[in-house]
Amino acid sequence: MGGQLTSWDTVIIGGGFYGCALAVFLRQNGYKAVILEASEDLMQRASYVNQARIHNGYHYPRSFITAWRSLVNFPRFTLEFRECVDNSFEKIYAIARRGSKVNAYQFKEFCRNIGAPIHPAPPPVKRLFNTALIEEVFTVREFAFNAAVLRDLMRDKLTRLDVPMRFQTEVHHIEQADGDTLNVTLSTGESIRTQAVFNCTYAQINTVLQNSGLPMLPMKHEITELALIEPPPELRELGITVMDGAFFSTMPFPAAGLHSLSHVRYTPHESWADLVNGYRNPYAYLAELDIQTHATYMIHDSQRYLPALSKARYVRSLYEVKTVLLKNETDDGRPILCREHYGLKNLYLVMGGKIDNIYDVLKYLQQFAQPIDQEMVEAPHDQS
Ligand SMILES: Cc1cc2nc3c(=O)[nH]c(=O)nc-3n(C[C@H](O)[C@H](O)[C@H](O)COP(=O)(O)OP(=O)(O)OC[C@H]3O[C@@H](n4cnc5c(N)ncnc54)[C@H](O)[C@@H]3O)c2cc1C
Repeated sequence: MGGQLTSWDTVIIGGGFYGCALAVFLRQNGYKAVILEASEDLMQRASYVNQARIHNGYHYPRSFITAWRSLVNFPRFTLEFRECVDNSFEKIYAIARRGSKVNAYQFKEFCRNIGAPIHPAPPPVKRLFNTALIEEVFTVREFAFNAAVLRDLMRDKLTRLDVPMRFQTEVHHIEQADGDTLNVTLSTGESIRTQAVFNCTYAQINTVLQNSGLPMLPMKHEITELALIEPPPELRELGITVMDGAFFSTMPFPAAGLHSLSHVRYTPHESWADLVNGYRNPYAYLAELDIQTHATYMIHDSQRYLPALSKARYVRSLYEVKTVLLKNETDDGRPILCREHYGLKNLYLVMGGKIDNIYDVLKYLQQFAQPIDQEMVEAPHDQS
């Protein structure tokens, strides 16, 4: 949808999963909203290029709250977006003997404490692992999502609700206009007046803030590589995660009909924190990089634990900027970030560290005027 922009109740910057879900929420609550999206379609960036894991808590033994919220949100997400859910594979978590931040006993106890189902893996699955390096292997309940199907679902919802979407429309900056209204200026120079703005641009949140002369948030950006592989037959119906340290994960990436392979050491190519190392425009930086794939390193290291991976066929890699709050670097937690009236009246910032966090964001927005579950929200003035 294109054409002249006039004035809208609410402008949502970014048509990723968060911007789309927020637009649906606002429309259903009686607000007029428009989505302004820099690329040519919805959900082309982090909402497509990710591991496709629908978290159910297992991934976060060092962040109880994130684990517990994943567990709470899992049934809701898998029901509401069931058409995109891939549960056709067995999900395996294996604990490394050395270098792991949790051992098998601690992992089992952690799962029991949060109430996440866990069972010893059957012998044929266990036999796939090198027992000299792997202490224990478990089957768990975790699924994947098909990002292309999720995008179609969101597009259908937005179309049914008559939410205008404008593509190839990059917002440059925001400024206060008269009273409580805001002016949103596009990279083309065109500008629109609006009642409220939601900055849902994930890796680009700080870029929009910087261009608007507003303080940036303490965020860390990583240039990440997700290798797509054709797994050997014995791994085809498995999703495997080796925990919890510099290990790896290989699981279905349904949107491409392949498996992803990611490795804690080799998936990140480089990283920076805007407030520590200086600001960079993440998309522009990624676009300029001449990246050499780390897929061979990923396969070589991972096959020590899972020998069948030596027969995997590397197909291609997807690269994207992964953005986390600086304070979660060590505990790996993924709280939501929601800020209201950030530097400007009626400017809101929204970032969810993972797809299913959307329900925590919506809960936050629903209870705007009331005290909310503060533990899930990043401390507003925490600059650590
Ligand atoms: C490598 C990787 C692996 C991950 N693995 C998982 C996982 O397994 N499970 C999980 O739940 N989560 C995972 N995540 C996190 C998850 O992908 C994100 O939490 C989620 O996609 C964020 O959605 P979003 O809508 O905020 O961001 P995005 O999908 O990135 O959307 C932001 C949108 O804003 C647009 N935009 C940017 N700047 C502008 C501008 N100035 N004007 C207009 N539009 C603009 C972009 O084009 C983009 O469409 C992973 C992330 C990465 C990068």
